[in-house]
Amino acid sequence: MTKGIQIAIDGPAAAGKSTIARMTAEKLGYTYIDTGAMYRALTYCALEGHIDIYDDEALSRLLDELTIDLLPSPQGQLVKVDGTDVSDAIRSQEVTASVSAVAAQPEVRRRMAEQQRRLASSSGVVMDGRDIGTAVLPEAELKIFMTASVEERAERRYAENVRRGISSTMEELCEDIRRRDKADTEREASPLQQAADAVFIDTTSMSIGQVADTIIRHAEERMGQ
Ligand code: C5P
Repeated sequence: MTKGIQIAIDGPAAAGKSTIARMTAEKLGYTYIDTGAMYRALTYCALEGHIDIYDDEALSRLLDELTIDLLPSPQGQLVKVDGTDVSDAIRSQEVTASVSAVAAQPEVRRRMAEQQRRLASSSGVVMDGRDIGTAVLPEAELKIFMTASVEERAERRYAENVRRGISSTMEELCEDIRRRDKADTEREASPLQQAADAVFIDTTSMSIGQVADTIIRHAEERMGQ
């Protein structure tokens, strides 16, 4: 059996990366790693522990002490910190509002990227985030950069929140998406940007299935090479 390839999926907030990455991984029998969930888990623990979200050193120490597990389940990916399920807690408004500050810290990013590379080393993997194709897995065989209009992304996130029982308004969601896009694009440490060799997909008027099929087609092409 072949070892499988590495597929890096990057793009701005709420572009549907996680859903698509999970579907693609399932279809290919690959491991799925949601790196945003890792930054969210660290942010959640920092807020719980009253740690300054701009203090790179304190956050890095905290990260070293935590065991973050990403586990597949029929309801989607479970996120556990030291054995406790935080899958819903990491999607709260409070965490969403603070995560980009935590993710902008250079030492936090360096350590996260190390953990992510280790997670990707064993088999075929689909990893989604902001810097996967540019910094975490620059040798990935397939890189995708996925986006959609702000309004479309807010609508998708709204539907997801309703499903998860999280209350939000379209206005709040559009504002949060714009704010995170700006922070993620303008930060100094591995900002959100399209890798030169990434395939660009605008998903605004595509269904989830169409996007997943497009990625699988590209993956099959790379596997054949
Ligand atoms: O993907 P998600 O929206 O859950 O990511 C939450 C936040 O984590 C992003 O807004 C970004 O600030 C940060 N992030 C990152 N690098 C990654 C994944 C996520 O900076 N690879």
